[in-house]
Amino acid sequence: MTAKFRYRCGECGHRTRWLDDREGAQRLERHYRRCHPGVEPGGDFEIRRDGQRPGCLGVFLRTDRP
Ligand SMILES: [Zn+2]
Repeated sequence: MTAKFRYRCGECGHRTRWLDDREGAQRLERHYRRCHPGVEPGGDFEIRRDGQRPGCLGVFLRTDRP
């Protein structure tokens, strides 16, 4: 089972693509160095497991017709 991680910047809302955890953390670190120099990297991350789709599809399927 592989999981993908998406990291979110705590300063400006920037998000990385779905990557493995190490690469995602590196991308976010690089983003902080470029866009927020001197700020300690923080923010948030999401986890997606194989076989699960991002939430937008679920919202689409739940649209009820009268
Ligand atoms: Zn940022």
